[in-house]
This record gives sequence, C-alpha cells and structure tokens, in this order.
Amino acid sequence: MLNKMLKDAVTIAIGGHIRPDGDCVGSCIGLYQYIKDNYKDKKADVYLEEIPDSFHFLKPADVIRHEIPADVTYDLFICLDCGDKGRLGFSAPLFDRAKRTFCIDHHISNKGFASDSYVVPDASSTCELVYQLLDEEKISPQTAEALYLGIVHDTGVFQYSCAEPSTFRMAAKLLEKGIDGPRIIQETFYEKTYAQNQILGRALLESILFMDKKCIATYITKKTMDFYGVVPKDLEGIVSQLRLTKGVEVAIFMYELEKNVYKVSLRSKENVDVCKVAGYFGGGGHKRAAGLTMAGTCYDVINNLSGQIEAQLDEV
Ligand code: 5GP
Ligand code: MN
Repeated sequence: MLNKMLKDAVTIAIGGHIRPDGDCVGSCIGLYQYIKDNYKDKKADVYLEEIPDSFHFLKPADVIRHEIPADVTYDLFICLDCGDKGRLGFSAPLFDRAKRTFCIDHHISNKGFASDSYVVPDASSTCELVYQLLDEEKISPQTAEALYLGIVHDTGVFQYSCAEPSTFRMAAKLLEKGIDGPRIIQETFYEKTYAQNQILGRALLESILFMDKKCIATYITKKTMDFYGVVPKDLEGIVSQLRLTKGVEVAIFMYELEKNVYKVSLRSKENVDVCKVAGYFGGGGHKRAAGLTMAGTCYDVINNLSGQIEAQLDEV
C-alpha cells in the first residue's frame, strides 16, 4: 500500500503531532530516510516542531522544517503518530492542500481523517506500523535507528503491555542492522539534564494522593519552568514516574501553557481507560496513556478529571 503511494507521488511531505515525542520523530525520520535511500527520484520533506535535544543524534533530523512554504502543494502528505488533524499543528495547511493524504497511527482515538489510513490501535508504536509497511531488506542502519528510537519510547523500553512478541522480533531485526541499541536507550530515554532532574524532583515533592490513594497528581506552573530554565519537552517522563507510585491507579501531570490553561498527561495501570477520560474533555490517546488541554485552575482540572476517573473506578 505504502509502496504504491510512494511510486505514484513525486513530492512527499511527512508530518507528525505537536510537541513531537520519540515515536513521532522516529517514525517521521525513519520513513524520510527510507524514501531517500530507496526512492532517489522523489522529493521528501519532514515538518515537525522542535524536537528534544537528545534526538539530534539522528542525522536526518537536521533536515526537519519548522515552517511551511506558502503555496506549495505536495502530491502526498504522510501523517504519522497523529490521532487527529488538530494535532498536526503548523503543518495542517500542507495536509489540506496535498493531493492525497495517508495516515499511519496507533491512537485508539483516531477516527480516520486522512484519505487513506493504516491505524492499528493495539500496535506498540507508529514505528512498528511503519516497519510493517517497509521492505525489511531495504532498511538502512539510519532508518533502523530512528524506528528503534520510537519503539523504545512508546513501550517505555519494552516494558508496557503494548510490547508484544512481534515488537521484540522487530527490535531484534533492527538491532541486526548494526545499530547501537543500548546507547539509544540510555541517551534518549534515561539520561536527563540536571534541570530536568530538578523539575522532576520538584514535581514529585509536591504531588498529592487523593481518591483513596488511587490517584496521584502534580502540576508545574510557567513560573517554576522559567525558574529552572526548562521548556515543555523537558518534562517528558514525569508522569511515568508518578505512575510508578505503589497503589496508584491513575497519574495526572499537568503544566501551564498559559494562565489558566493546562496541558495534561494521564497514565493508568489496569482499570481506568484514560483515553476515555481525555476524550470526554476533547483530548485522546491510548487506554493507558492519554493527554488533553484544559482551561481553568489546576484545581478545576483535577476536579473535572476526578469525576470521570471516579465513574470508571466505581465500575470496577
Ligand atoms: P503525553 O501525555 O505523553 O503528551 O501523551 C500521551 C498520549 O496521548 C500520546 O499518544 C499523545 O499522542 C496523546 N495525546 C496527548 N495529548 C493529546 C491531546 O491533547 N489530544 C489528543 N487527541 N491526544 C493527545
Ligand atoms: Mn506513538
């Protein structure tokens, strides 16, 4: 399916979701490099917001564009790891103008907004889906590195239940391309800057348990972010650490986008479908990991979310 679409197009734009994470960057860069390696007569461009510093070891990341050209129409726009059009951000006009659009994604909330879609909600990552659509033999080490990055991040280093035997088999195939797997895990997933660790510490220190200790929540204001000199992409991992709290079912992490507007991350262990909770307030994601943006004070946010979480816990 992908092969045919690539053959039919001369110009191809690749885009992912706002505040791109490992899976989004890995799938975009992996596919871009694959096209460069195997379709030399095609023109491919990648459009993404600023990516975390630790992902810059991926050499093709240097070509990422952060602005769209005026009046350019691509033959094909490939949208990766993005559950709805609104999440495409600044590249949405290119999507709208493209002659054909194709979305590869694993968000359960994806309603199929592109002209063609390959959406598998149970897949570990978009990178795993991209891998399935590529010809294994034609994957270069550079493509393999990028796809490996995405799998590592979306499975929490092969830890979450979405990591199926097929995910491990695919990871093995990518490692056989000669990539440095341990380095990717260490330097992009575990390693944190001093400031990132400080803000993690601060978030944990100020976290509160509620709803019979089944929920944990914490928030970071803009002022605190400025004090530590961190930006949103430095806050990755805080919500996962909160979820590790013994006895907790749901973890809520939020940071201030602007006064009384919060970006919220939700994680659950077993019983709560946080995609449903996020979906109720216009967000989305996966059963065990979802997100949304909500207006109000941080207490309003917690109160609103609590109602939806409690309703699900009551059903258990
Ligand atoms: P995170 O909490 O790490 O930002 O996101 C967790 C998951 O939820 C990711 O798969 C992400 O794509 C999705 N997600 C996060 N925020 C939003 C949102 O505002 N809307 C939708 N539809 N999905 C989101
Ligand atoms: Mn993903």
